[in-house]
Amino acid sequence: MKITKVKKSRVSKIDFKHLPFGQICTDHMYVADYENGQWHKGKILPLSTFDIHPANLALHYGQSIFEGMKASKHLDGTPMLFRVDKHVERMNASAVRMCMPTIPAAMFTEAVTELVRLESAWIPPQEGSALYIRPFMFATEEYVGVRPSSKYKFVIFTCPVGPYYSKPVSLRAESQYVRACPGGVGEAKTAGNYAASLFPAKEANDAGYDQVMWMDPYEFKYIQEVGTMNIFFVIGKKIYTPALNGAILKGITRDSIIQILRSQGREVVETDLSINKVLKAHKKGKLKEVFGSGTAAVVSMVNKIAYKDQQITLDSSKYKIAPKLKAIIDGIRVGKVEDSFNWTHRVD
Ligand SMILES: *Cc1c(COP(=O)(O)O)cnc(C)c1O
Repeated sequence: MKITKVKKSRVSKIDFKHLPFGQICTDHMYVADYENGQWHKGKILPLSTFDIHPANLALHYGQSIFEGMKASKHLDGTPMLFRVDKHVERMNASAVRMCMPTIPAAMFTEAVTELVRLESAWIPPQEGSALYIRPFMFATEEYVGVRPSSKYKFVIFTCPVGPYYSKPVSLRAESQYVRACPGGVGEAKTAGNYAASLFPAKEANDAGYDQVMWMDPYEFKYIQEVGTMNIFFVIGKKIYTPALNGAILKGITRDSIIQILRSQGREVVETDLSINKVLKAHKKGKLKEVFGSGTAAVVSMVNKIAYKDQQITLDSSKYKIAPKLKAIIDGIRVGKVEDSFNWTHRVD
């Protein structure tokens, strides 16, 4: 792979103790172009801007998809990637749904690996910190009219991020707006899903809640997910999470959590989960924990849920399962916890 390095890295100027999320990018990026029906050889070059034609198809008709993943440093100093194969798989599922070209797994993995190797000095040293990796693809053809682009860019850039000690979050179950419906694009990590979520999220914020809990699009009765997280409920001894039904993003952290819980002998139920079941369980004192899962925070505890005129509050400081899950996943990432699932990939 052709690598053009910056003359002087900015890494020595970074205060790794105070990293704002998503505001600092590393020195380099990876770029590959798709044209004439094929991917051309990708390269790594200094981070820079793109020239965009006003008729760029992505800007008008939204062919744009992305992934979010993390690299961390093993206790022995080796950079580690987490579940790359799953990210390639999901990126390609998003590509197919948005009528974009898929990326060969080997090309994706090589690109991420070479970029992380080059930027390894940027992986923050503290536990819970990571190098956030943002692979994405967008249409680059200029054409005024609705049809798939014939040209695309696949780009990867990275940002060092600090330990994400997220505060417990409050959720408002949505009863007016819809994120996704079966048959739609809710399962694709595509830009438009987030644009569509901004207004409902703003209304929830204005009403005093941190995030929207998305509900089914027909009756607003069944829970889907939250913002950029999947969601789990501990009811009695079982852990419930909404079943993947085509309208829910297939979170890789969600999958990791389910595998960890099942390996511990716990019962995880993936089902159509109604808000009424959750409210009823709370009334009976059986709702023990509610938490979200996603790459950025790994696990986010929920301490409040509102649904129409009902509201429940939970004492997240008493949660046992959620913090343990976060510790296991963070631990696997740095080699503190044995990777019995074979999820990590060393960048030697
Ligand atoms: C990315 C994302 C998630 C979480 O997926 P992870 O693979 O766990 O990071 C959940 N919901 C939405 C809508 C997302 O975009």
